[in-house]
Amino acid sequence: MFEVVIGLEVHVQLNTKTKLFCSCPTSFNHKQNTNTCPTCLALPGALPVLNKEVLHKSIMLGTAIDATINKTSFFDRKSYFYPDSPSAYQITQLYTPIVERGALKIDFEDGSHKIIRINRAHIEADAGKNIHEGDISKVDLNRAGTPLLEIVSEPDMRSAEEVILYLKKLHAIIRYLDIGDANMQEGSFRVDVNVSIRPKGDEKLYTRVEIKNINSFRFIQRAIELEVARQTEAWEDGVYAEEICQETRLFDQVKQETRSMRGKEEAADYRYFPEPDLLKTIVTDEMMEIYSKIPELPDEKMARFVKDYGMSDYNASVVTSSLEMAHFFETMMEEGISAKNALTWLTVELQGRLKGDVNITNSPVDAKKLGHLVKRIEDNTISGKAAKEVLDKLMEENLDVDGVIDALGLKQVSDTGALEVMCDEIIAANQDKVEQYRGGKDKLFGFFVGQVMKVSKGSANPQAVNEILKAKLG
Ligand code: ADP
Ligand code: MG
Ligand code: ZN
Repeated sequence: MFEVVIGLEVHVQLNTKTKLFCSCPTSFNHKQNTNTCPTCLALPGALPVLNKEVLHKSIMLGTAIDATINKTSFFDRKSYFYPDSPSAYQITQLYTPIVERGALKIDFEDGSHKIIRINRAHIEADAGKNIHEGDISKVDLNRAGTPLLEIVSEPDMRSAEEVILYLKKLHAIIRYLDIGDANMQEGSFRVDVNVSIRPKGDEKLYTRVEIKNINSFRFIQRAIELEVARQTEAWEDGVYAEEICQETRLFDQVKQETRSMRGKEEAADYRYFPEPDLLKTIVTDEMMEIYSKIPELPDEKMARFVKDYGMSDYNASVVTSSLEMAHFFETMMEEGISAKNALTWLTVELQGRLKGDVNITNSPVDAKKLGHLVKRIEDNTISGKAAKEVLDKLMEENLDVDGVIDALGLKQVSDTGALEVMCDEIIAANQDKVEQYRGGKDKLFGFFVGQVMKVSKGSANPQAVNEILKAKLG
């Protein structure tokens, strides 16, 4: 029996206004090579100056993961040549990063938790982009020098499920802190997965393989499955030592395989040394006080939802998984509805109707409207079934809830006088069944309810009908 061992490196692009070491803007949809200057083009003599906003956002992240913030940190130079990196080195933090030793809690569906330790989070500069067009390759340096925060976990994850939970939690924290867009498809949240296996019970770490550039949760899951299968098979066939080596592999979604990209560089290959163009970075007590102020995080919000709304841990973790979702849910709750209904109408009914690029942030039915609709079920104005019809209508047209209920004639009859008349009619018309029911055929009760619902064309409040019939039939 084998155990899977996984550690993650996540590169988060920080959403600062300007780049890491110069004042070029960080926006990307500009003409190629226009957001550049002597510093990010690495022209001789140009010197880097650290962007304070990067320090601020890194400290926010460090605070959110209960990490140590180093009062003094340093930048290091990592040498390598790529066409999209004109300096032929990357400025990063190897020996003393800004953030060290943090932790992140993941929540399982059964209500249990696990702590994943975080080794470090360090600041580094992004490279530019190579654009390949036919025979020609072009370089766009607009992205060169954009700030990244690389968050490195300990090898604490034991399954693809844990990996996805970790990534979703980290993603949520970044969005809650508003320190990055964390958009996987656009590359502002890049995940490298380090995978190894070992016999269960063994404490030792075996050879890890790094899989790079996987841009969706689904592909990450798949890449892990494939890599674990490859390593397990090699072990079982007795060729583990020959076939599994420390290397970087690519996930090919078309061929459904991982494939060797390059052998793993050793630290020595990079000729790391302290960056001579930058001073040490000092975080003063005053800066610490300001930069470590952070908004309510997913875990705190979750605990508050559990307490205030009486939700289960898991349900609370679902609605706090993104800030947008949490806002939406809380706005619905302002209508004074039950958390259970709010959750179902948000995650099942509304999200089930959102297609393509439409999500809760640009949904045609906003939180207030959906909350109001649920309110109308809870105050017995309409049935749940009718509410679905109203929601369908609201998805198409920007109308108000009560107006649609009236226009579609969906109001439930809860007026007992009117309902009693209907019940009397049904009882009078079905005397034989009344006898049978009173004679002990309990199952017939449903028949009477059904008849009243039919006569009322579905508009009768079933709960009220139940009560009236119970009283009248004895
Ligand atoms: P590098 O930059 O060389 O990739 P890092 O120290 O930045 O090295 O990252 C190493 C990552 O690999 C960490 O996330 C760590 O948890 C993980 N890791 C280390 N050893 C193993 C292993 N045997 N199996 C799985 N993951 C591992
Ligand atoms: Mg790495
Ligand atoms: Zn610049």
